[in-house]
Amino acid sequence: MTPHDSRLRSFLIAVLPGDGIGRDVVSSTLEVLATVAERLDGVTFETEEHSVGAAEFQRSGDPLPEAAVVACRRADAVLLGAMGLPNVRWPNGKEITPQIDLRERLDLYAGIRPIFLYHEQDSPLKGYGAGEIDFLIVRENCEGLFSARGSPFDLQSEEVTDVLRITRQGAERICRTAFELAKQRRNHVTLVDKANVLPSMVYFRSVFDDVASHYPDIETDRVYIDAMALYLVQRPHAFDVIVTENMFGDILSDLAAGLVGGMGMAPSADVGPNCAVFQPSHGTAPDIAGKGIANPIATILSLAMLLEHLQDSEATRGGQLIREAVAQVLACPQHRTPDMGGFLSTREITDLILDAINQR
Ligand code: ATP
Repeated sequence: MTPHDSRLRSFLIAVLPGDGIGRDVVSSTLEVLATVAERLDGVTFETEEHSVGAAEFQRSGDPLPEAAVVACRRADAVLLGAMGLPNVRWPNGKEITPQIDLRERLDLYAGIRPIFLYHEQDSPLKGYGAGEIDFLIVRENCEGLFSARGSPFDLQSEEVTDVLRITRQGAERICRTAFELAKQRRNHVTLVDKANVLPSMVYFRSVFDDVASHYPDIETDRVYIDAMALYLVQRPHAFDVIVTENMFGDILSDLAAGLVGGMGMAPSADVGPNCAVFQPSHGTAPDIAGKGIANPIATILSLAMLLEHLQDSEATRGGQLIREAVAQVLACPQHRTPDMGGFLSTREITDLILDAINQR
């Protein structure tokens, strides 16, 4: 095939490794991308790396330089590692949170977080086999309780209030996203809220009900956030798509990751009207940074989501190849990094996944 072949599609991927283990897991994932690309026909991937995060902040004073944001807007998709370190803070003492800034600047309103159990040994729950925990958290990313984060506050005052902001437009679009995703899955959406206590949640529920009325073929239920924490542990198989506000989604995502092997097994996509950023649900994990033992699977599975997002049949096949390779590697109980009870390094588990892709 020549570069002039009309069937050749080229996709531009902006790559933001960030800090801590973000760099290690992105490095593994780029090797996976290169290996998968060799097995696909008619698609190529160009990557463009940008410096963001705590190290960039220390270098330039800006954790999210405009050039990186422009590159994300221009790219077909963005692959992000993780950003921020606990000891790197603004002069007022607040931790830098460029990952949240990026969501807001690119209007990445939908945090899509698949939770899938690849092997029974990876769940702390008894009696669940591969594929028997399989649900999707759809987290509203741009408002909710996180919208209070930029508010000024005074440590000397007698009170500080955080506002939980829900807009009709914000609630409508996240609910619609959840219903559209449910159509591609098992046709069930669960709203998680706190409508028994908070007016903002009564409002969120009423918008959800309006949106649901346009999807008569999709079953729904409504669960309070506290009960949901219980149900996810007692019967995670009962859920398909879960939609919720920002802070609840943040908390449930970590709980849910714990059901299938931990943060190293939790991929995510942050999607907006014009851009999409794919990244592991975990942070920079400073406790293990530089040790060569980070689990790259969450980021590798985020790459699978990225490829499927490109809406190209070959790229989608690449995403599928990655999932099959991960499943094949995890089928062997010894193939685990330390966070999942094993002894493999980042390098070793990456090599196993690369081999599994090459065998297909
Ligand atoms: P953030 O607030 O940015 O999400 P965090 O402070 O919640 O970050 P993480 O960086 O997600 O924390 O890490 C939480 C725990 O999970 C840490 O003990 C970390 O070592 C572990 N962890 C997270 N990701 C991985 C990974 N990919 N491989 C191994 N361990 C991980």
